[in-house]
Amino acid sequence: MPATGFVSPPLCRDHDPGRGHPERAERLVHLGEHLASVGLLAEVENGASRAATPLELARVHSAGHIERVRSACLSAPLALDGDTAVSKSSYAAAQHAAGGVLTAVERVLRGDWHNAFCAVRPPGHHAEQDAAMGFCLFNNVAVAAAALRHEHGLARVAILDWDVHHGNGTQHLFERDPSVFYASLHQWPLYPGTGAAEERGLGAGEGATRNCPLPSGSGDAQWLRALEDTLLPELEAFRPEFVLLSAGFDAHRLDPLSGTCLSAAGYAQMTRRMLELAARSAHGRLVSVLEGGYHLEALASCVETHLGELVTWSAS
Ligand SMILES: [Zn+2]
Repeated sequence: MPATGFVSPPLCRDHDPGRGHPERAERLVHLGEHLASVGLLAEVENGASRAATPLELARVHSAGHIERVRSACLSAPLALDGDTAVSKSSYAAAQHAAGGVLTAVERVLRGDWHNAFCAVRPPGHHAEQDAAMGFCLFNNVAVAAAALRHEHGLARVAILDWDVHHGNGTQHLFERDPSVFYASLHQWPLYPGTGAAEERGLGAGEGATRNCPLPSGSGDAQWLRALEDTLLPELEAFRPEFVLLSAGFDAHRLDPLSGTCLSAAGYAQMTRRMLELAARSAHGRLVSVLEGGYHLEALASCVETHLGELVTWSAS
């Protein structure tokens, strides 16, 4: 029976946005140590990743943006916006973050893996077509969605983004595209300020964007209700052939970047709902991609329960 895949490119640890930055390499170091200590790494299949090529990145990013990130790293350390800085190794790290997700998608499509989790950084969902933003250089999930559509020929791809911040980059990249459904749960108001419930897509893509902004102080019950009552009926009706998760864990009650109060158990429940959707619609094909999550212990315990659900599902 195909296992759950786990992709954690070593090069992703080399991206350094500067001293004191919350999006730091220790996130992946501590996460890896924790998953090993609880025995979960023995239950997944590790996959070697590759770098995403400039052509693969160019399905969602402008050539100018890719070149600006590459050349900024040559002159690093350098800030690309107020909170997004690069080091010499950041271009390679970002290529491997996107490439790691492409690897996971390819192996799930081939049937090697039932589902997969990608422990990658820098994160991706704020990255726009022509700009780095909010700790993000390349939009990892969007690169994978574009590959599923244009390289692998799938007709419909769903992205659920439960990072506590709205994924402005992912929404903007697909808001005119009826073949990629973007659904988001996020705290509002909060950075980056997009993601109002009225934003439902544009032109041919109208109806294929769905936002659930939730107030600070919300917990598991409110987030699960929004997922079950608002997002899942529309995702079910869309009938995705592949499910991608922009899995940030910064809505945890201990996270320093938000006022939302989810627990690790809440993430497990949301994970099960998404696995059920993938099973009904997409032959179980689901790839989850790390976005935010800045409290080291909370991040580790949330990924433990999340990955545990993926493993349990693969084994059942
Ligand atoms: Zn976030």
